[in-house]
Amino acid sequence: MKILKFLKSINWPSTIFIIGYHLLMIGLAPIYFLFFPFSWPLFWISFTLFYLSGLSITVGYHRYFAHQTFKTNRFIEAILLFFGTLAIQGSALRWSHDHRIHHAFIDKDEDPYTVVRGFWHAHILWIFRKQKPIQEKVVSDLRRNKLVNNQDKYYVVWIVVLNVLVTLGLGFLTGSYFGAFVIGFLGRLFFLHHFTWFINSLAHYWGHQNYSTEHTAVDNYLLSILTFGEGYHNYHHTFAQDYRNGIRWFHFDPTKWIIWLLEKCRLATGLKRANGLKISEKMLLEHKKVLLEKVCTHFAHKKEAFEAAISEHIDKLVAKAKRIHDLSKEYEKAKRQKWADTLGDLRLEIRTTKKHFQESYRAWKRFSKSVMKLQPVELPV
Ligand SMILES: [Zn+2]
Ligand SMILES: [Zn+2]
Repeated sequence: MKILKFLKSINWPSTIFIIGYHLLMIGLAPIYFLFFPFSWPLFWISFTLFYLSGLSITVGYHRYFAHQTFKTNRFIEAILLFFGTLAIQGSALRWSHDHRIHHAFIDKDEDPYTVVRGFWHAHILWIFRKQKPIQEKVVSDLRRNKLVNNQDKYYVVWIVVLNVLVTLGLGFLTGSYFGAFVIGFLGRLFFLHHFTWFINSLAHYWGHQNYSTEHTAVDNYLLSILTFGEGYHNYHHTFAQDYRNGIRWFHFDPTKWIIWLLEKCRLATGLKRANGLKISEKMLLEHKKVLLEKVCTHFAHKKEAFEAAISEHIDKLVAKAKRIHDLSKEYEKAKRQKWADTLGDLRLEIRTTKKHFQESYRAWKRFSKSVMKLQPVELPV
């Protein structure tokens, strides 16, 4: 009876497809590399297809359809759905539905790919289980989108037709239909799937919790390279309405760069950004919480003195971050009103306050590092 129940709980089409293409790749890839001449054009076109289908998942499925962090037109929607279909990760409607549930019930039983049930459940095993029916209220906005509905309704037809046509086209262009199937289809899917699944598994498992310890999501710079910028997952789960995952200009987040580029080309509008002051405050207060826990465990005898020192550091930093935020707002206003006289003064004050903030931040880092390493620290008397 138990085995019957287990067999009934399996999502057979997805399981057979995923295991099947893995086995095919393991069998056919050595034959291709041993008996066929390696083709650079085939490699680069397959890599481009890999990147385009991956970016359609992150720009399209994730940050556009699931989180609505920007607005765009039907033409871009159609392109995102076209390459998103090539990725074979479910329809945009189903994907967004599961992802919204993941955010709403993170680490709880309702979360379809919760890491609490284990790394492999979050990575791949959840796909082998029968899906729960779609809760219409979760995706009522997407139901009104004709393109999304069409892709969802004829999803199997679309994935077969598009993948067959693209693979045949690749074979025709490069003169190797076998290579196109092994590299352009099987290889592309293998890397794309595992890299995307890393976001549900590794990005909830291995990294730093810079913005919140209230959920398992972590920031991992290495992962952002493999996942088109989705590795800043702790930030993402804390500020899910932001179109960026990597918020600093040097953070590797090609998804954010594409959305930004679309805006510059007037193909995207209404890009949502979390408030800079709120981000700094959240990060500092989270750091404070971690440090206070450490103090309670290791410096209980000097708890009050430590708490006073930590609060002093954080209050100073939060006040300076607020000042920079207010000054930046004033500067923008002065720029709009063309108050040339005040612009120079404001610029100077912003620069000086930023310098003071950085000095205080360095002092805080030194202090917190010593506390975390249980080294002696100077405390106010
Ligand atoms: Zn997540
Ligand atoms: Zn998300």
